[in-house]
Amino acid sequence: MKHNFGAGPGILPHEVLKQAAEGVLDLNGIGLSILEISHRSAEFEAILNEAVSLVKELFNVPAGYSVLFLQGGASTQFAMVPYNLLPSDGKAAYLDSGVWASKAIKEAKYFGEPVVVATGKENNYRSIPTDYEIPADAAYFHITSNNTIYGTQLQQFPKSPVPLICDMSSDIFSRVVNVADFGLIYAGAQKNMGPAGTTLVIVKDEILGKTDRKIPAMFNYQTQIEGGSMYNTPPCFAIYVSMLTLRWLKAKGGVAAIEKENNAKAAALYTEIDRNPFFKGVCVPEDRSKMNVCFLTENPDHEKPFLKLCDERGIVGVKGHRSAGGFRASIYNALPITSVYALIDAMQEFAEKNK
Ligand SMILES: *Cc1c(COP(=O)(O)O)cnc(C)c1O
Repeated sequence: MKHNFGAGPGILPHEVLKQAAEGVLDLNGIGLSILEISHRSAEFEAILNEAVSLVKELFNVPAGYSVLFLQGGASTQFAMVPYNLLPSDGKAAYLDSGVWASKAIKEAKYFGEPVVVATGKENNYRSIPTDYEIPADAAYFHITSNNTIYGTQLQQFPKSPVPLICDMSSDIFSRVVNVADFGLIYAGAQKNMGPAGTTLVIVKDEILGKTDRKIPAMFNYQTQIEGGSMYNTPPCFAIYVSMLTLRWLKAKGGVAAIEKENNAKAAALYTEIDRNPFFKGVCVPEDRSKMNVCFLTENPDHEKPFLKLCDERGIVGVKGHRSAGGFRASIYNALPITSVYALIDAMQEFAEKNK
């Protein structure tokens, strides 16, 4: 088996893949595949209900919030959030901490006025700006908890006078968060929760219905809530595999337990990056992500040979994003610490060989 450091779609627990494969052939012994049963069947309703309850349980979702499994990826949420929450004569605050945040800002322009409170662009997004004010008359404040491409992560969430909207696509369920602090959280499943094809939305019901805009059914959170994520045919398989992954997470002790493992994995890898003279980190240490670890070789000519060594060691997916270069090791929930040790061994072997 390979050590899968891919950024997304990312690694899933092996036992989840096995169960998913079984469900494709014969779901729970019913003689039918998960791919060929009605979404209105008792079997699928049980899967969706369990997925929703696991989200509520694992993330301690308080009363007054709805949990949805939608389609269209996090990118659709970039538009759906302002569609539902931003009045056409209103403004919304955005923190520009990377490519995904910029894309969210771009989409908001179709619906109202996004106000960028701060941007990390001049700094190539190597740090997350902290010096800004959130306008109190904004409809909401949009942030990205983990910047998948640059390897920065908010270690603390800002206090916001207006509903806080957060794109958690690449660190959902990796650490304990207080859902009550947020108006809406969304995450494409394929980084840390399941396969591509479904997007988790956790929304505080009371922030909805404040604009008088007419919204087509599929883009309307209210319709999706009323339909229980089944206004139309939901992505049954993606929801099934997400549910299996959430079950796996619960069996491991839940979010607090995985957070400890994630801290240990990140600490081990950053320690090696800082110690090994052949490598260096990219981001400012205080904003370093515990999910996507970006680093460079001290000597740019070492990039290719190090990639080759990784390949020989079964270490895959470590090439940096095309817009950032260098290396990016994504160490999502399902990646075992033994894979991190394999990467550290490769770094040490590389240094030894080239000294
Ligand atoms: C991957 C990613 C996205 C885009 O997700 P899609 O599901 O492909 O639309 C958005 N935001 C963040 C933080 C991401 O990591």
